[in-house]
Amino acid sequence: MLLVTIPPWPISRRLIQNCWELLQRKFQQSWPSLSSPPWGPALAVQGPAIFTEPVNDSSGNQENTSLLDSIFWMAAPKKRRSIEVNRCRRRNPQKLIKVKNNFDVCPECGHLKLKHVLCGVCYQKVREETAEIRRQMGKQEGGPFKAPSTETVVLYTGETPSPQDQGKRIIERNRKRPSWFTQN
Ligand SMILES: [Zn+2]
Repeated sequence: MLLVTIPPWPISRRLIQNCWELLQRKFQQSWPSLSSPPWGPALAVQGPAIFTEPVNDSSGNQENTSLLDSIFWMAAPKKRRSIEVNRCRRRNPQKLIKVKNNFDVCPECGHLKLKHVLCGVCYQKVREETAEIRRQMGKQEGGPFKAPSTETVVLYTGETPSPQDQGKRIIERNRKRPSWFTQN
């Protein structure tokens, strides 16, 4: 923004006028084809781009109506529901969390679990052991696509393959057989 104020003293006023006329003359010399009304200091303000559009444009009204038509109007309640009615609905016994008393102590690890559900702590152990067995399979065979199409036997420390296990895929784990793992 450039703001030029002319001070009241006559000397400085004359100086600024002289400068301005010199500037105008120079400008007209460099672009003689441009014939515009005499220039003067003007106020320029930088604003958002929204104001650059014309305000009273006839097409704007049409755009407004089309915007309102494109809105999907939802159903709105016609009467206010009292706080008693709202609380009766929200605190309805059907909506409250049920008290559970069908839990049990896990016979394996002692953690609490639901009666009809597998114990989460024990299942985590099974998952970890299964992942270890899979990792060992990959290490032995060098990839999942090289797995033989035979039955798999998992042997833990201190176990020897029985005569029935001849020709089966044998995975050896160097740990004690867990109590929850299928016993041979
Ligand atoms: Zn358990």
